[in-house]
Amino acid sequence: MRFVFQLILFTILSICTYAAETPYLASNARKNDNIEDLFSRYEIDVNSKNINVFKKINGSIRLPKSGKLISGKMYFLPIHVVHYAGEQLIALLLLKSEGDAALIEQYNDRMKMKGVRKDDFRISGKLWVPLSFSSKGMANTESKKRSYHRIFGKGYNVVEKIDNTLQGQVFYIDPGHGGPDPGAIGKRGKHELHEDEYAYDVSLRLARNLLMHGATVYIIVQEMKDGIRDERFLNNSNREKYYGGQSISRGHRERLGDRAAIINKLYEKHAATATAQHSVTIHVDSRTTNERIDIFFYHAPGSDKGKNIAETLLNTLREKYEKAQPGRGYKGNVEERDLFMLTNIKPIGTYIELGNIKNPNDQVRIIEPRNRQVIADWLCAGFLDLQQKVK
Ligand SMILES: [Zn+2]
Repeated sequence: MRFVFQLILFTILSICTYAAETPYLASNARKNDNIEDLFSRYEIDVNSKNINVFKKINGSIRLPKSGKLISGKMYFLPIHVVHYAGEQLIALLLLKSEGDAALIEQYNDRMKMKGVRKDDFRISGKLWVPLSFSSKGMANTESKKRSYHRIFGKGYNVVEKIDNTLQGQVFYIDPGHGGPDPGAIGKRGKHELHEDEYAYDVSLRLARNLLMHGATVYIIVQEMKDGIRDERFLNNSNREKYYGGQSISRGHRERLGDRAAIINKLYEKHAATATAQHSVTIHVDSRTTNERIDIFFYHAPGSDKGKNIAETLLNTLREKYEKAQPGRGYKGNVEERDLFMLTNIKPIGTYIELGNIKNPNDQVRIIEPRNRQVIADWLCAGFLDLQQKVK
């Protein structure tokens, strides 16, 4: 009993001391450094709150009007150095969410990548925690710039916004098949390639890209364990569920009906405020082994808007292929087709086939993680081009 009490007391003490006695990170000012230069190197927002903390922790210094720092002098920064011994960051720093923990983890990794710090906090045991992050959740400006999405998995779960080009647009990213339905199956060596896994990976990458440009994105099929996978052969699972947690039905017709219903319900929610709403369905086709096919597009019969989107994406892909592989030629095309996920949904639908899962050459397009990223990048570029056309 006494031991338990001591343990609690110890815990309370360590929480209290975390803020008060944790040392600040120190850094030497470079030649001609302004306070802005120093702050931006460490991604500290230049606002009055941080500047006041900076002055205070450096012995209540006064900064000259120019903001110039003394070259070579060591300054404390509004960043705590917290002792780290492999704990969960969420518990160590008393954070509100795993999102905040991921942001701090990535902040430390980014600082290492940029060369601002030389050590890896996991090895040195020195975790940098900007004051704007600590205990009350992430800083306001930080949350506008970066957001956390567990679905993308480790290494991808923090999304950094590049711009707001697609702000106001809502995307329903609809990876084909999933759950009890693997879709088409290809063979490569001893590996079975399941359509749903590859379509899902490209879908996640596309969704993440669209978020980087300020879009609102829903991923209609979800599998929290997978995330974006940088592997050639993706493990096959049947754990996928619909957005909202509903199971994916075994019956084909029912399955598509559920999927469309989820999208249509969300569409209504956004109808009054969205500037555009898109549904993007991603599949991998299955043909005879010898047939090679390039990425191609379907739109709903008679839909001018659907046709315009598909043709814009096609043109973007053609340009990208020409640049990346001059002379290759790109034989993708746009067709109209009465497909359930085009004709039974309220947003404008685009249906994309990534290749022939049975053809050895087409398989390379989907099994190389780098290629899956390029496909997602180019499709996103297509939607940015579409936005240009609207303007
Ligand atoms: Zn399919």
